[in-house]
Amino acid sequence: MKQAVDPSTWKKILSEIQKKVTDVSYRTWFLPFRPIEMDPDTGSFVIAAADQMRINMISMHYLPVLNDAVSSVCKGKYKVTMKLMNEEEMSDAAEAAAGHKKNTLKPAPAGALKQEFFLNPRYDFDNFIVGPNNNYAHAVCLAVAETPARVYNPVFIYGGSGLGKTHLMHAIGNFIQKKNPKMKVLYVSSEMFTSEFIEATREARQSNAKINALKTKYRTVDVLLIDDIQFIEGKEGTQNEFFHTFNTLYELEKQIVITSDRHPSKLTDLDERLTSRFQWNIVADIQPPDFETRVAILRNKAEQQGAELDDVMLKIIDLIAEKVKFNIRELESALTRVIAFKVLLKKNLTVEMAKQQLPDIFDPRDVSITCETIKQTVCRKYNVKPSDIESKKRKREITRPRQIAMYLTRELTDMSLPKIGESFGGRDHTTVLHACDKIAGEMKTSSATAEEIKALMNELQ
Ligand code: ADP
Ligand code: MG
Repeated sequence: MKQAVDPSTWKKILSEIQKKVTDVSYRTWFLPFRPIEMDPDTGSFVIAAADQMRINMISMHYLPVLNDAVSSVCKGKYKVTMKLMNEEEMSDAAEAAAGHKKNTLKPAPAGALKQEFFLNPRYDFDNFIVGPNNNYAHAVCLAVAETPARVYNPVFIYGGSGLGKTHLMHAIGNFIQKKNPKMKVLYVSSEMFTSEFIEATREARQSNAKINALKTKYRTVDVLLIDDIQFIEGKEGTQNEFFHTFNTLYELEKQIVITSDRHPSKLTDLDERLTSRFQWNIVADIQPPDFETRVAILRNKAEQQGAELDDVMLKIIDLIAEKVKFNIRELESALTRVIAFKVLLKKNLTVEMAKQQLPDIFDPRDVSITCETIKQTVCRKYNVKPSDIESKKRKREITRPRQIAMYLTRELTDMSLPKIGESFGGRDHTTVLHACDKIAGEMKTSSATAEEIKALMNELQ
């Protein structure tokens, strides 16, 4: 019988995988997958991702790891199938699977939802890069973490998606928890708050136990961190519950931190009593980071992921930072993809290769001609191997294509002579210069050569 995959099961599977692969591969390839359904009778286990590259990568390199992890956690012989789905399709499919389950099996254990409340230890103040775009919000959050409910209360942080609001929330929570483990810190997304409230209300027809438990849970904390409050816009019941929660905590002088994608005054579908309370004390915004901050964030991330900050990596970081301006999540994801690619690559990463890995950021049509493509094209035309071109062989069948490839590299890329020499089997720059002069000279005296080279150039461009 098909059924939904319990979130805790998926979490266990992921941690099995995490033991077997590098951290970068784990995060790049596995983490974005979502479990869709499983069937203990047939051993089928379906997961989905939103891009084909990830699916290809897993099927080429990691399928056994995945099958083993699922089989060991689910205690049976399972075979994993991967599907390409967008976010919406994933939710629909997972819901449909949950539907099967509801009809036949007991409901998912309540604990399954718990992970929403966990503080993510990866988000702390130490790895939050401060720039002119977020220094105010950062300072406020740090002050709150150091002295909860004493300096600023309530605190309202707003800014666009992927700019670090959730990171700061968890940083506050982690900081307080570490310094003062007795303090009750509760992080919750507004979505979770809403669904808990709705569930409790539904049960309230039979018993008030759940709604009372919920009230107790939220009204007895020392610090309430509630994320993405815009989610409760238009939801009156939830707003009302939150209003009372807010008032109780505020009167008890407990810390409240709220985030939103907009300034309180722009939350037009929210009760005015709430939006005005949100502005009682501190309202801080986070803006998109400037270029220097983006570079600093990327360098920091690269180091965290264990990537060496060599010249090529620094250049790639600059290029990504130039292109991705408004969302740090996207900024990070581009870098992570490059680092993962670098890890899998058996040879040195070049800037061009990195660009090719990020077609969503660097338009493939903009990708300039590389020495590699020139070598490939020339080799194909003259029927020689790239390794020959890079070798010391001096037969004319090889020296001529080699010289032509050098000439084209000089003409079509911005590589320096020594660099060209280097990528042609470690030759001296004078050799490159000689080759270029020789071909240029030939083109002047022989129209056949001129045509030949022109045809190659056309093909390359
Ligand atoms: P939001 O909640 O505003 O949508 P998140 O807090 O989820 O954004 O941040 C998205 C990603 O960007 C996270 O991985 C976070 O760690 C990272 N991030 C955001 N701001 C910074 C920063 N200033 N320094 C380092 N990482 C950051
Ligand atoms: Mg967030």
